[in-house]
Amino acid sequence: MTASAPITQDVLTIPRKLPEGPINLIGLTREAMRDALIVAGTPEKQAKMRVGQIWQWIYHWGVRDFDAMTNLGKPYRALLAERFVIEVPDVVRRDVSADGTRKYLVRIAGGHEVEVVYIPEVDRGTLCISSQVGCTLTCSFCHTGTQKLVRNLTAGEIVGQVMMARDDLGEWPESGEGMGLRPRLISNIVLMGMGEPLYNFENVRDAMKIAMDGEGIALSRRRITLSTSGVVPEIARAADEIGCMLAISFHATTDGVRDRLVPINKRWNIATLLDALRTYPKASNSERITFEYVMLKGVNDSDEDARRLVKLIAGIPAKINLIPFNEWPGAPYERSDWARIERFADIVYKAGYASPIRTPRGEDIMAACGQLKSATERARKSRADIAAEAGLDG
Ligand code: SAH
Ligand code: SF4
Repeated sequence: MTASAPITQDVLTIPRKLPEGPINLIGLTREAMRDALIVAGTPEKQAKMRVGQIWQWIYHWGVRDFDAMTNLGKPYRALLAERFVIEVPDVVRRDVSADGTRKYLVRIAGGHEVEVVYIPEVDRGTLCISSQVGCTLTCSFCHTGTQKLVRNLTAGEIVGQVMMARDDLGEWPESGEGMGLRPRLISNIVLMGMGEPLYNFENVRDAMKIAMDGEGIALSRRRITLSTSGVVPEIARAADEIGCMLAISFHATTDGVRDRLVPINKRWNIATLLDALRTYPKASNSERITFEYVMLKGVNDSDEDARRLVKLIAGIPAKINLIPFNEWPGAPYERSDWARIERFADIVYKAGYASPIRTPRGEDIMAACGQLKSATERARKSRADIAAEAGLDG
């Protein structure tokens, strides 16, 4: 890609309302569900209240069957069952790592597959979800970026990943159990799976609004982190319309290196990105921006890089998350040595920034950051590669 080539999102989005067939209630915003209920015959005056009731059944109790919605009249339940479904993506494969990390391969409409990872820790449980099948960007250290096929997930498919994981973890409350009575197994959500969330803005926003709503998944906006490679024009919009925590895949301290690692840097370079973050309305000492920094041996891990990094981000309430590079087959990089990572962390820390080193989780099941790439898409690509090698293009 040349420096001036626009980076576009040449991807397919499935329309939310399929022209025929029942509508999936999961993923509809309050407004969209209200409209859909009215179209289905719900009196306008009742529609808002019905949305609240249905949301609680779906997102608080995990109910999938309209007949279980006992505060709705029987004829109304039958009407809903005729017009709507409550569907979450199918799990086609589940791997559990020796460290307890769970990786799910879920199938969405069209037979596409995305990966979801659950990471249990002492004080929290983090669910890493995907926003796209594949990614249009091609960061050279990221496995997802090598996947050819890309499609945006719908809001229902994004929230559906959380619902699927709650099913698997048995997280739904027992009948009669109120909200907030036991610690949540999924206490945090990170949009750090496959895809660039800001290139699927509306669907990610609608899904996260459901995740943050008290009658939805009911997680605080401070427990949701959206990670972006740096889609500058959408960053302020994310603060405004989503309001969750922000992480930036920074990874380099000069434009030359960042152009190679995170090619979107050719469109919005380091200075432009940092300007957007300096004016990020939500950043404060209690809501710091996370800078993700992957440690690549001999590429971006010198003392000089560490010093340049702290100079660059001066004035931005930030924490630096150092990610030891996770290898994948054919990756053109190596992980920095542990002593190097610690030395880098120390320089950043002494400059006044928290600099945790992210412990790689679930490496034995390829669940770690940047290793995600679903099996079907992998197979698809290798067939294409074989054809290309054999001169059978197309
Ligand atoms: N597309 C978004 C979110 C998904 S990637 C983004 O790029 O921010 C989540 C994080 O994992 C990003 O910081 C990404 O740069 C990092 N990552 C990707 N590949 C990695 C690898 N092989 N090892 C370690 N981190 C990786
Ligand atoms: Fe896409 Fe993020 Fe991977 Fe870059 S690091 S290719 S933006 S998923």
